[in-house]
Amino acid sequence: MSSVMTESTELLGLSKEEVVEFVETIGEPGYRGRQIFGGLQHRRLLSFDEMTDLPKDLRNRLAEVAKASSLKIESRYVSSDGTRRYLMKTHDNLPVETVFIPEERRDTICFSSQSGCPLQCTFCLTAKLGLLRSLTPAEIVEQIIVALNDAYGVGVKPPRGTNLVAMGAGEPFLNLDSLLKALRVMADADGLYIVPNRVTVSTAGVVPKILELAEIPDRPHLAISLAAPTDELRDELMPINKKWPLEELLNACREFEKTLKSGERFTFEYVMLAGINDSEEQARQLANLLNRHGLTAKVNLIPHNPADPLPYQPSSAETVERFKAILESKGIHTYVRRPRGRDIFAACGQLAARHTAPTEATL
Ligand code: SAH
Repeated sequence: MSSVMTESTELLGLSKEEVVEFVETIGEPGYRGRQIFGGLQHRRLLSFDEMTDLPKDLRNRLAEVAKASSLKIESRYVSSDGTRRYLMKTHDNLPVETVFIPEERRDTICFSSQSGCPLQCTFCLTAKLGLLRSLTPAEIVEQIIVALNDAYGVGVKPPRGTNLVAMGAGEPFLNLDSLLKALRVMADADGLYIVPNRVTVSTAGVVPKILELAEIPDRPHLAISLAAPTDELRDELMPINKKWPLEELLNACREFEKTLKSGERFTFEYVMLAGINDSEEQARQLANLLNRHGLTAKVNLIPHNPADPLPYQPSSAETVERFKAILESKGIHTYVRRPRGRDIFAACGQLAARHTAPTEATL
């Protein structure tokens, strides 16, 4: 029996070559595999029944040995700003959330790498779920297909480019192999055709994986969540810092930076918590920290998205601007991220399988 054939193979997590191999193990010619791959990844069909270019017998056989979909859409929430959040369930009934963010020139899909998250960042609601489990490559790919189909119709080519960010629930670097596999599948020109250059992976700072990613030639962009300019504060806000403190993290970033190709982005994210990490002194500390490590990366300031029972408030717009001005005066390119979808619990750090009332619409 082939390695790709299990009792019910999740075809969405397989490359075109692997789908071909899979159909050959059930006695079908290879071209059927390419057809099925196109049905799933290009036409974005999430059931074999819809692949009417396949003989009925084959569709029935496929349904017995394979899965074209494994997520069940439970709810869809639409924000007043057009952002959409999908709450789905895995076959074992665990929550998976995905956010579709339309922008003028492109769309961004924020997907989850895990159900829940094992890290205990104190400002993030997902942490309250704990880790339920890591998602499979198929479950990662399906999130993107669900969001595109809902936004544009099944199989309809998006009118704008699609960017992906691994900034939903979970720590992507604790599920790196599945994530990279999903990205390889999605990059196929005969499928979704979303290449790594359109993808950003965000980490709380799993240092060995930063170095691992640095070695990969065709890799996604990297973002690092900092949240604090000193170990003392970062230990408190992001306990992962006790394992990999700032010095080690920033040294790894320095190594990563050395391998940057032209046009490659590398970002630090800094969530702004009122009265906790947003003082002028802390802005200077942050600038000095990055400059001392010779890092040229840019900084994204993210106003905190509050949620019960998180104990923080967002910094005021003036405080954020002052913080930004200090970083810029020290030569650091700084951007302020506009919160999207706060009203439907779709913004950064708000994914915790919440049912929100006002704009709910079940698909
Ligand atoms: N585990 C990964 C990816 C998920 S979090 C990571 O830590 O990077 C994605 C981003 O949302 C991180 O930069 C995180 O700092 C930020 N974030 C988490 N909770 C937030 C909140 N309540 N408000 C604003 N940003 C938040």
